[in-house]
Amino acid sequence: MFGDSADRGRWEAAVFEPERSAVQRAAATAGFDAMQFRAELRAFCRDQVPADIRQQIGKHQYFSREQRIRWQRLLQAQGWFVGHWPKAHGGQGWGQLQRFIFIEELERAGTPWLTHFGTSFLGPVLCAFGNDAQRARFLGPIRDSEEWWCQGFSEPGSGSDLASLKLRAERGESHYRVNGQKTWTTMAQWADWIFCLVRTQASGRPQAGISFLLIDLKSPGVTVRPIETFDGGQHVNEVFFDDVEVPLANLVGQEGEGWAIAKFIVSRERLLVTEIGKAFHLLGELHAIAATMKLGLGDTATFRRRAAELEVQYRSLRATAYAAVIEAEAGREHPIDASLLKIRGSELQQAIFDAITDLLARNGLAFQIEGIAADIVGYRHGDPRLPGLLHEHLHSRAASIYGGSNEIQRGIIAKTELRV
Ligand SMILES: Cc1cc2nc3c(=O)[nH]c(=O)nc-3n(C[C@H](O)[C@H](O)[C@H](O)COP(=O)(O)OP(=O)(O)OC[C@H]3O[C@@H](n4cnc5c(N)ncnc54)[C@H](O)[C@@H]3O)c2cc1C
Repeated sequence: MFGDSADRGRWEAAVFEPERSAVQRAAATAGFDAMQFRAELRAFCRDQVPADIRQQIGKHQYFSREQRIRWQRLLQAQGWFVGHWPKAHGGQGWGQLQRFIFIEELERAGTPWLTHFGTSFLGPVLCAFGNDAQRARFLGPIRDSEEWWCQGFSEPGSGSDLASLKLRAERGESHYRVNGQKTWTTMAQWADWIFCLVRTQASGRPQAGISFLLIDLKSPGVTVRPIETFDGGQHVNEVFFDDVEVPLANLVGQEGEGWAIAKFIVSRERLLVTEIGKAFHLLGELHAIAATMKLGLGDTATFRRRAAELEVQYRSLRATAYAAVIEAEAGREHPIDASLLKIRGSELQQAIFDAITDLLARNGLAFQIEGIAADIVGYRHGDPRLPGLLHEHLHSRAASIYGGSNEIQRGIIAKTELRV
């Protein structure tokens, strides 16, 4: 158990040791100093996180739209928010390794999840497939967090089997007429725009009839309806399109190129789904909670064994993830790496939450103490992180579903490696 900061420091040094060799060398080849970059990011996360956000990180509370935007703008003021965009479009031209380190450090500090839909998905798509007018219209507001995007891929019955999607876009003289539904759309309730895979052709190979369309959520005929998840939050939504008119100019790439664009999106961010920074942050929480609890001797031994197993899994995952990113940076990404990391990353996250929850359960159920005790001096408050952590624990069950379920990832591994 890592009860004091010296222990945590030694552990951290051991965890990050490999960086002095392989990562540092790969970064030097890519033209940056990994240790220095990481040190800058850590100093920034230590000194520049606004007080209200820092307080909510400590309690594992959900961040508001305004807080997320404020944080993104602080990152952009450093040139980091779109660091992975090409220099010609306002980015810094980071490769996969630098991007990976950036995200790892933010996760490690527990800062608000970046709304990737604009910056990670649509921005690079517009750089690669968009035209000049689309880049001039949309890139700036994404970079400056002035417009919020969401991702409209999944539909009822078309999640894993995405190519079967039905949202219909019929071409007219100046507009597409869009009818149908998307679902599981993360943060659509906060979004201004949605990028959608739509069906522009019903016959032939299903993939060949899919196009990529940008739709203003304020358009007449769009309805966003919340889906309440079992953690009690509103993360996801249904989005309905009823005779929605979308200008032809909002088609990205060619008609029928939507599937290639979807594959481009998936291939760019595949390795980030590992969320090793988040695993590190949560392991730290696990140890911090254990240090404040009075565990009996038997419980201590059981906890130590469980915590040690999680740490071994974390270290191997981190080493594997960096090996994969270094290969990807050199243009040698192995087809199963992302699937393997997605499975291990989501399972590890869930296992750490299970351990945290088992530990916290000793304090009883989560409840809002203010509701029954106001601030009566001496009333036992329990751990202030408890409600937030349990909420996150429930939400973490979705990690093995979104971004391609773990069963689908196992199928990819079997097909690629075992040829079954
Ligand atoms: C919290 C959350 C946020 C999301 N955010 C978004 C978003 O912003 N935008 C968006 O477009 N989508 C989003 N999704 C949707 C997500 O991508 C899909 O849920 C996912 O792809 C699974 O599709 P499905 O839900 O239709 O399940 P299905 O595809 O119906 O699968 C149901 C079950 O069957 C299994 N299964 C299906 N096919 C196979 C197979 N061939 N072999 C083995 N097992 C199989 C699956 O693993 C799963 O367990 C989100 C989902 C969640 C949970």
